[in-house]
Amino acid sequence: MLGKDEGGETQMESEQRAPDIHQRRILSRDEHPISRKEISENALKVLYRLNKAGYEAYLVGGGVRDLLLGKTPKDFDIATEATPEQIKALFGNCRLIGRRFRLAHIVFGRDIIEVATFRGHHHQVNNSRHVSAQSEEGMLLRDNVYGTIEEDAERRDFTVNALYYSAKDFTLHDFCGGLADLEARRLDLIGDPETRYREDPVRMLRAVRFAAKLDMTISPRSALPIHELAPLLQDIPAARLFEETLKLFLAGDALQTYRLLREYNLFQQLFPQLTPLLTPNGDSVHERLIEFALIDTDNRVREEKRVTPAFLYATLLWGAVESRARILENESGLPWHDAFMMAVNEVLDSQTRIIAIPRRFTTDVRDIWALQLRLTRRQGRHPERAMEHPKFRAAYDFLLLRNRVERGIGELASWWERYVESAPESRHQLQREASRDEPREARENNNKKRRRPRRRKPGSAPSAS
Ligand code: ATP
Ligand code: MG
Repeated sequence: MLGKDEGGETQMESEQRAPDIHQRRILSRDEHPISRKEISENALKVLYRLNKAGYEAYLVGGGVRDLLLGKTPKDFDIATEATPEQIKALFGNCRLIGRRFRLAHIVFGRDIIEVATFRGHHHQVNNSRHVSAQSEEGMLLRDNVYGTIEEDAERRDFTVNALYYSAKDFTLHDFCGGLADLEARRLDLIGDPETRYREDPVRMLRAVRFAAKLDMTISPRSALPIHELAPLLQDIPAARLFEETLKLFLAGDALQTYRLLREYNLFQQLFPQLTPLLTPNGDSVHERLIEFALIDTDNRVREEKRVTPAFLYATLLWGAVESRARILENESGLPWHDAFMMAVNEVLDSQTRIIAIPRRFTTDVRDIWALQLRLTRRQGRHPERAMEHPKFRAAYDFLLLRNRVERGIGELASWWERYVESAPESRHQLQREASRDEPREARENNNKKRRRPRRRKPGSAPSAS
């Protein structure tokens, strides 16, 4: 099986290869590299306690997969035959959560170990809506049918995510060919890909995320249906998509993830307002802005610096705001400032219907954008006041980022760099300099498109830009 895909499986072969339940393959301690030392103490505690109470329990999912790849796992998930109620009875520090999937969280201060009961096949049981439910598109709305470990393995998404480690005898259990796929660095869905994507369209996002993060290739049969099924993401609750986008863009492999999302027609579903701005080579001003921002984000994650969803969304959606503002300015003759602020509202309203970006972040996104206009005003107390704004630093970084791709803001960006770095007493000199440049600067900022004569509404405030 090893390397079979590397030369490129033919489509027919790949469609015929059905990696359903294989024989259970058990590797003893000396046949695999996982050592208990690499597993979090808390996860081990939970495993031991479950085992001691007589329940089968395993480490599973990303924890096992990442250890086998020599990576440090993000978290450790546990699967057991104990039901949520039985788990709760065993652990004082246990919270039961979730409706779609009922899960137990065992809480150790800030560390939370997620424990899931083995899941069974939903079609085997009665159709009680409390236990399992499916939408007309085949999407699983509820999935709380319990089963055996074999069934649990089959219900997981990718073969490499269906490896189980036992802390009782240190064995590793492979039901779906995950070990061979890990070695071939192949991401392969368990079962029929189309059915599995329809059950849960987020699996398409997960495919891309794991491919980028683990440097693996999505198997041809798992890749094939994505482009066409991508629009199913529209049925996913916006809150869940917010959580997923954080994992896609703030986990250290954002650039590669973004490129794959575009390739598979998934980015277009998440950010439909950007679709008209995407070009075949991906190198327009707005696309380059996104790429630079994602490279910076990845570097910051690697250096363990703070990254914020607000800055990310400000960069991702900047192109949509600018182009919408230009349309509003041209079509309704609004002053640039008003057109811009109206575009900000429209773009955020429309985006949050798809991805539920919490208000605390959209407030920051708005501030970062609005400050782009304020930073063009360099007279009087404007610069000083702008600097006092809590989002000044983010807005300033954003201006410098824009300056890497946009034309016409070079003088403004370098002025701000000097202003920020200079001592307060020498800032007046910079302001005097700016007054010489201001008229030109204002022209550059306002004339993104040639402006029509203004038709200011009676009584409306003069434009700020
Ligand atoms: P990471 O935590 O590194 O992002 P992970 O594989 O652990 O990766 P989790 O979201 O923590 O991902 O899920 C844990 C495990 O649960 C997965 O490995 C997989 O076996 C299973 N799983 C998670 N989401 C799904 C899904 N949508 N469909 C099927 N199985 C899933
Ligand atoms: Mg995990």
